[in-house]
Amino acid sequence: MARPAGYCVNLYSFFDVGAVQRIYLCNLTPEEYVATEAHRQVRPEEICPICGECDCLQSHGTYDRGITQKTGLVDSMCVARFLCVETGRTVSYLPSFALSYRLVQAATFEAFLEGRLDRRDVQRWTELLRQYSRQMGVFGAELLRVVGGGFGRAPPASSSLWPYLKEACGSVAAATRRLVTQFNITLFARYQCHQPATAT
Ligand SMILES: [Zn+2]
Repeated sequence: MARPAGYCVNLYSFFDVGAVQRIYLCNLTPEEYVATEAHRQVRPEEICPICGECDCLQSHGTYDRGITQKTGLVDSMCVARFLCVETGRTVSYLPSFALSYRLVQAATFEAFLEGRLDRRDVQRWTELLRQYSRQMGVFGAELLRVVGGGFGRAPPASSSLWPYLKEACGSVAAATRRLVTQFNITLFARYQCHQPATAT
């Protein structure tokens, strides 16, 4: 059910110790994901990202988090979670339209970065999107240091981070997924839940 903008959603209920978060390619919009209960279709990777074994991941329910819709209104979505029976730790699979620990969907943040300030979703969340942008700027130097030449070309100054990521990855969603999958970071920070299991 859609809720008015500004509805307070607990984004942090999934900070359970040792939990791992993955971002999987999802071509649905948040609205489609919620309407079709797409979290029920999520299957874990064959190789467990926690222990490296096969066949150890069991369905472990879901957790709820907020996600903004195209209109900018906030909806609640379920994220699929699995339990590694070898370690007792959980792994969750966040669809790629969502940003880790952030309420506003990737496409709206991208529109903001593109200067499309007339869009309704951007207007609803302008202050929060400015905050996202600032966080991305602060983390930019670290991001470029980690990525290095990994995107096939020399990284620019952190002030031109978004054009660089756009050229390399195509979108905020694709950049985020690639950063998490290949480099264990997001656009904004390094989170423990994205680190390789062997490093924890
Ligand atoms: Zn496992």
